[in-house]
Amino acid sequence: MSLIVVGSMAFDAIETPFGKSDKIIGGAATYIAWSASNFYQPIKQISVVGGDFPQEELDQLEERGVELEGVQIKKNEKSFFWSGRYHLDMNTRDTLETQLNVLGTFEPVVPDSYQDAEFLMLGNLVPAVQLSVIQQLKKRPKLIVMDTMNFWMEVAMDDLKKVLKEIDVLMVNDSEARQLSGEFSLVKAARSIMKMGPRYLIIKKGEHGALLFHGNSVFFAPALPLEDVFDPTGAGDTFAGGFIGHVARTKDISFENMKSAIIVGSAMASFCVEKFGTTRLKEISRDDIENRIQQFRDLVNFDIQLA
Ligand code: AMP
Repeated sequence: MSLIVVGSMAFDAIETPFGKSDKIIGGAATYIAWSASNFYQPIKQISVVGGDFPQEELDQLEERGVELEGVQIKKNEKSFFWSGRYHLDMNTRDTLETQLNVLGTFEPVVPDSYQDAEFLMLGNLVPAVQLSVIQQLKKRPKLIVMDTMNFWMEVAMDDLKKVLKEIDVLMVNDSEARQLSGEFSLVKAARSIMKMGPRYLIIKKGEHGALLFHGNSVFFAPALPLEDVFDPTGAGDTFAGGFIGHVARTKDISFENMKSAIIVGSAMASFCVEKFGTTRLKEISRDDIENRIQQFRDLVNFDIQLA
């Protein structure tokens, strides 16, 4: 019984109004693994890297209970590279460059030791690769969660729609929800996306929190108001890691428990943005996480008595 995490492992170069990073370690599956491993182990990672990906980073993940049998290392090729520049509001960004490199020809192989996984987290990646992983699993996991982004809506919409039919929970940001559905209202967008396959939809709104839709129900989780946001890269993936980590730990896939899971995801994302790359995620302790979840409780806890 375990949790499979699929997604990019990458080099990123990031520019924010307050600073610039050289090539640093990133990738959706990297952030998800660092975040989810606080709650659940082992994590069975599926990804691909080039010979340029530091062994030390892989070792650190292994020490965290992340199994790497499903991570292919293409010695003579380069890792996926992404660079982005954030606008002044830090909520929106432009992709400056996407070099697929090893990701362009990636054919995932699900190791035998990964079969029987109860939970599958499909992080941002080529939709055909996400689908291939689902198809290779002999037994359908209890819950399949998927994250994606505008890039794939632009270059692989047909494949993306095929994956949507197979999953339970989709996570996208507000502009991606609008792009996918063609609806401006997020409520209408949610209704239309849930008809495409997922029974649950999470719409992330950056510093304005996240919405969880299911049938006619909706739940809102705020984002913690932070004094300084240093680098939002990976916040969405870190959120996904907290979400799936909590669900896997509790083994409870009810809507009620997903409400708690999006609070855990929001708490984890609030750490991610405090430093460049994965730096902050590597530092935090169990106490830090518990204190932050308490801050979320305090943030939304109020009592109203009319009359
Ligand atoms: P987030 O800020 O949560 O949307 O995730 C940012 C991470 O996603 C970065 O570390 C990138 O390496 C990775 N990423 C960016 N574009 C892609 C893409 N097209 N496919 C897979 N991963 C990507």
